[in-house]
Amino acid sequence: ILEIHQLYKNFYIRGQKFEVLAGVDLTVKKGEMVAIVGASGCGKSTLLKLITTLESISSGEILLDGEPVNGPSPKCSMIFQEARLFPWLSVRQNIEFVISDAVPKAEKKEMVEYYINLVGLSEFTDAVPNQLSGGMQQRVSIARALATRPQLLLLDEPFGALDAFTRMSMQQEVLRIWEQDKTTMMIVTHDIDEAIYLSSRVVIMGKNPGVVKKIVPVNLPFPRDRTDPAFLEIRG
Ligand code: ATP
Ligand code: MG
Repeated sequence: ILEIHQLYKNFYIRGQKFEVLAGVDLTVKKGEMVAIVGASGCGKSTLLKLITTLESISSGEILLDGEPVNGPSPKCSMIFQEARLFPWLSVRQNIEFVISDAVPKAEKKEMVEYYINLVGLSEFTDAVPNQLSGGMQQRVSIARALATRPQLLLLDEPFGALDAFTRMSMQQEVLRIWEQDKTTMMIVTHDIDEAIYLSSRVVIMGKNPGVVKKIVPVNLPFPRDRTDPAFLEIRG
């Protein structure tokens, strides 16, 4: 579904050139869940932003479904470290907002309910973001991203700001959603355990400038068990 060929990205700060990504090659197949890890500043967020066209490519090519990406695509949706919800809209309205007006009203309502349910927030449909905890808000942003029915879901340290307990239940939720919907996902994380738990492949990036250093396959059964010896082996 996604092909990245010889991707380069430079930033210029006060006229000085900084090479951030230098020849990234990566292919992600439909239904795959790929984790990306690497030192801070190696260009993980930049890579996702290039895919969603929040930043522009210096050189190289990104193909989504065989077509070069050259603008925001409805096929691709991104979740950031912190929930970016409309504070004046309710949970329901935040999700409704991203669903096309072409969808009939009744079907729209059903979709909204489905995704609110999926993230376990059916009791909070009419709450506004301020009335929810950070973890709950992040769940809304996940529901909202899924409601766009993206072919590719990009997650940039989505659980970084959450407490350990909420993080674990969110990881389970994402895994469950993935098993259910088979949405192709790319998740950036600093947490090696999370990377293994939530992926079929772990991409390790090197820095200065960013390149794909190594790709580690993860062939673990579901439900995943962090104490599985195979898990620990991959971790090594
Ligand atoms: P972290 O793990 O800390 O989130 P990262 O791997 O996501 O790091 P990026 O945010 O992609 O790293 O940044 C990679 C490099 O690109 C950094 O050195 C950063 O200074 C630089 N950079 C990112 N965005 C810009 C920008 N808009 N202008 C200039 N430099 C930038
Ligand atoms: Mg980042």
